[in-house]
Amino acid sequence: MRVLVVEDDPSIARALVSGLGRHGFEPTLVTTGAAAVDQAADHDLVVLDLGLPDLDGTEVCRRIRATSEVPIIVASARSEEIDRVVLLESGADDYVVKPFGLRELVARIRAVTRRGGTSAAPQPEVSTVGDLSIDERRRSVSVGGEEVRLTAREFDLLAYLARDPGTVARRSDILHDVWDPHWFGSAKTLDVHVASVRRKLGHPEWIEAVRGVGFRLVEHPVLGSGDPAEEAGPAGSDRP
Ligand code: CA
Repeated sequence: MRVLVVEDDPSIARALVSGLGRHGFEPTLVTTGAAAVDQAADHDLVVLDLGLPDLDGTEVCRRIRATSEVPIIVASARSEEIDRVVLLESGADDYVVKPFGLRELVARIRAVTRRGGTSAAPQPEVSTVGDLSIDERRRSVSVGGEEVRLTAREFDLLAYLARDPGTVARRSDILHDVWDPHWFGSAKTLDVHVASVRRKLGHPEWIEAVRGVGFRLVEHPVLGSGDPAEEAGPAGSDRP
């Protein structure tokens, strides 16, 4: 597996490249955000340092995401909640906080790429919910025939909900199954991803939040202009 390591600190870079090599990966090192954006699509995964000399890491994420669905794991020295949310919103699939061990990074890489459909597990066919179509083999999503571009994690979240449309999935189950059994990150991560999927699908009504429980994919949503259906007003109040 070709891993693009984006790191400007020579000692961390050296340790990462040799460590990943020992674990059977094929690492390539670049030291700038510009080089990362250039080369990301030629790799199976990107490990991205946030503090780069030329571009902010979140900007690098966004630029990679503009052209590629390659999984991105951010290595960040920052640990504030707001940064995590910004990161995930900018398209990162996961992150590790420095200093991190190689074993932790490798576990994250395996988790992210397993979700990426590289496992040998049998893949279900296409599931269709209303005019939403989810092809788990091609990992593609379309609404009314229009392709919708999702990140790897967004796809997994939507596919998970689509396996049992109409049924509420509990937040803890989603985090366990779509993220990682050992996910200790912020619960906000889930909300951020739900918001992003809703936005990309064009209507928030597709995914209904069930307060205090979780989320469900609505089988036949009444699609509005972007706001929840409550403002649809009473029927029969039309002029005669
Ligand atoms: Ca750095």
